[in-house]
Amino acid sequence: MTQYPSLHMIIDGEQVSGGGRRTFDVVNPVTGETLAELPLADPADLDRALEVAQKGFAIWRKSTPQQRAAVLQGAARLITERGDDLARIATMEEGKPIAEAKMELMMVTGWFNFAAGETSRLYGRELVRPVGQRSTVRWEPVGPVAAFAPWNFPLGNPGRKLGAAIAAGCSIILKSAEETPASALGILQALLDAGLPKEVAQAVFGVPDEVSRHLLGSPIIRKLSFTGSTVIGKHLAKLCADNMIRTTMELGGHGPVLVFDDVDVDRVLATAAPGKTRNCGQVCVSPTRFIVQENVFERFRDGMAERLAATKVGNGLEDGVQMGPMANPRRPDAMEKFVANARDKGARVNTGGERIGNQGYFFQPTVLSEIPLDADIMNEEPFGPIALVNPYADEEAMIAEANRLPYGLAAYAWTDNVQRQRRLAAEIEAGMVGINSHMIGGADAPFGGVQWSGHGSEDGPEGVKACMVLKAVHEG
Ligand code: NAD
Repeated sequence: MTQYPSLHMIIDGEQVSGGGRRTFDVVNPVTGETLAELPLADPADLDRALEVAQKGFAIWRKSTPQQRAAVLQGAARLITERGDDLARIATMEEGKPIAEAKMELMMVTGWFNFAAGETSRLYGRELVRPVGQRSTVRWEPVGPVAAFAPWNFPLGNPGRKLGAAIAAGCSIILKSAEETPASALGILQALLDAGLPKEVAQAVFGVPDEVSRHLLGSPIIRKLSFTGSTVIGKHLAKLCADNMIRTTMELGGHGPVLVFDDVDVDRVLATAAPGKTRNCGQVCVSPTRFIVQENVFERFRDGMAERLAATKVGNGLEDGVQMGPMANPRRPDAMEKFVANARDKGARVNTGGERIGNQGYFFQPTVLSEIPLDADIMNEEPFGPIALVNPYADEEAMIAEANRLPYGLAAYAWTDNVQRQRRLAAEIEAGMVGINSHMIGGADAPFGGVQWSGHGSEDGPEGVKACMVLKAVHEG
């Protein structure tokens, strides 16, 4: 039986803890009980990590594509071997069902293997110069990367950031969420065990604002990769401006799902309902605003309510559980406020709307319908298991609603009309659009948003290039 591990930071390959450092209690969201104490970095730890990252960059920028690929592929093999333990640890600290944690591990290994392949495709180009000058355009690693990863994909988020930096030839200081540290440590340890030089990747934890001010205030850091809320993303972008640090910002969304009356509603529900309860709705690309054509509105709303009400909620380590608790006490508090506010404004609660029990952070899968557009939940990312279902007359009104908010991460549309599919793909403002599918993303596809959902991409060739800079060399 997997035990939750004792916790540490990894600085210069050493496991760092104790020494009078402040600590943070990592909590099991099923019970609210403490799993372990996490040591938090003090300024001296961060200075040491920065100094080591500089050395790490000097080493790794000279590594060959084969060396980078071997580390990534070796780590992918180790992660697969250690998969059962890693998945259980992720479930213990984040709450998601174990099957979802295993899917997350496949995301990481898929990405490491893809990024390994990319190391040998980081081509530049040679320019045509009739006068005989030789001009080349090259990609070079950007430098030491700071990466701040959130708690909702405790394995996948750190994996994406580590894989990109390592494939590009950068060093990286990872600050994953303090609430889910053991998963991130497991991924980093696999890379070190696969032969990554200890200076290249390190893990610190701390008071987030202290860590970010310290690292982004240093001239050593050349790039920030952040995943989290739009509010914090904007704050970090301002901090980065002072040192002109490049950024990849993967921020919040408010996923619109357009359901037209030419599709089989049950076919949509078969993926939209489990899509909504996946990780308790704590997914940046979660389907959120169901924008349903009025002819099929009632069938869709009732079908969604029936399916969500039948979701088996419980401890994600137990067989058959489809949805675990929310990850931390802030989430059910937020859900209660969203539901109360929507109710006050006149929305209907078709199922759910309440906490479950008085232990842990459980919240019922919920359907709200006929929600006025000025309700908070129609404007702020819910990040929870609440489906918002409203009726609309026609395509024009549906597209207008999809594009109403300043977010643009993932959007989905269901229609069998091919001409309409093309119009939607062109007109919906989002970084990712799923047509008749909730499956978006993959190791080979860019993942990222527009407007307040951020900028830049993770995954795909673009995810590796995001840790690189261009240099044009002109030789006379
Ligand atoms: P939050 O905005 O305080 O934190 C989000 C993440 O950012 C956490 O991992 C946190 O550790 C980190 N963070 C916070 N302040 C930071 C700072 N100054 N420097 C560096 N990192 C910092 O809130 P939260 O309660 O953890 O989550 C609430 C909201 O965040 C959600 O409603 C959702 O909108 C968003 N969120 C988005 C994602 C995503 O995948 N895009 C993931 C987690 C949370």
